[in-house]
Amino acid sequence: MLSDESSTLNAVPTLSDFELIKTIGTGTFGRVYLTKSKSNDLYYAMKVLKKSEIIRLKQLEHITSEKNILTSINFPFIVNLLCTFKNDYYLFMLEEYVVGGEIFSHLRRAKKFSNDVTKFYVAVHKIWITEITLAIEYLHSLDIIYRDLKPENLLLDSGGHVKITDFGFAKKVEDRTWTLCGTPEYLAPEIIKGTGHGKPVDWWAVGILTHEMLAGYPPFYDDSPKEIYRKILGGSVKFPSYFDSSAADFIKKLLQVDLSFRLGNLKNGSADVKNHSWFKGVNWNLLLNKKIVAPFIPKLKHPGDTSNFDQYNELTEEEAKAGSSGDTYCDLFLDF
Ligand code: AMP
Repeated sequence: MLSDESSTLNAVPTLSDFELIKTIGTGTFGRVYLTKSKSNDLYYAMKVLKKSEIIRLKQLEHITSEKNILTSINFPFIVNLLCTFKNDYYLFMLEEYVVGGEIFSHLRRAKKFSNDVTKFYVAVHKIWITEITLAIEYLHSLDIIYRDLKPENLLLDSGGHVKITDFGFAKKVEDRTWTLCGTPEYLAPEIIKGTGHGKPVDWWAVGILTHEMLAGYPPFYDDSPKEIYRKILGGSVKFPSYFDSSAADFIKKLLQVDLSFRLGNLKNGSADVKNHSWFKGVNWNLLLNKKIVAPFIPKLKHPGDTSNFDQYNELTEEEAKAGSSGDTYCDLFLDF
């Protein structure tokens, strides 16, 4: 599969078509590299996934679903998968390089500010939440639940706009599903209860994210996951004194344990979320068309700049190959 944006790449790329520049992220069964194509000199992010690890960790279904979902969608605030290919040991997912890095690291850097700066950061975070709201609305319109909303999965492009990444937990479902997945602080009560869950879990997570972005910490927090779950099921949120009342109302309406009261799951669906008073004055159409200049633009010197990413040790060739023994899994990865 090749999309238009990758038309200058070889029709069926191989690893030797790229220069691996450096590691920009790590996941459970692989790494993400900044790469440069030898055929067009453009930069890409390449997710390199070890087949043996995918099998060992029983993640074949998640990876296949991630590939199928990302291939079937196209949205300004979701990372663009350009193509996939494989060799004996690895699967490769070639994505646009989102140069601004993780929102998470900008969020960590911006913990304490003066009042003026705080106003600025609320504005920045509000734009990010609006873009995420549009992305969730888009995914739900295709019956896709995302299920892993959290700052670590939100990247910033060169214009300061959000790109949602990591579709390992995303799932196409028309009604409900039962698998437990996600990050403790962001789990909706119905996931913890195991009573079946659907699209409303993403709106719950938008509530958690909004709180984390505006307060600097998530609303249900503890060192032990068990205690986090107890707090989530209790559903009572306390806001810091400086919190804007309309933002607090928005979060409270999303963090409704009872699904029949949760914003996003009411009569008008996502329209109710967009019509909340906290978003008063937001021009959703301009935003969707990226006609709004983002208030925070990440600093970068050139298109292959990696200064917005953490530093990682690079793997030696032996380390990269460890645990792999020839293409013993070829029948299992026919979809790649
Ligand atoms: P993932 O396995 O998708 O969670 O990716 C792990 C990390 O790699 C992310 O948190 C990002 O820091 C980085 N990353 C993933 N995809 C991209 C991309 N398309 N552009 C830039 N960085 C990425």
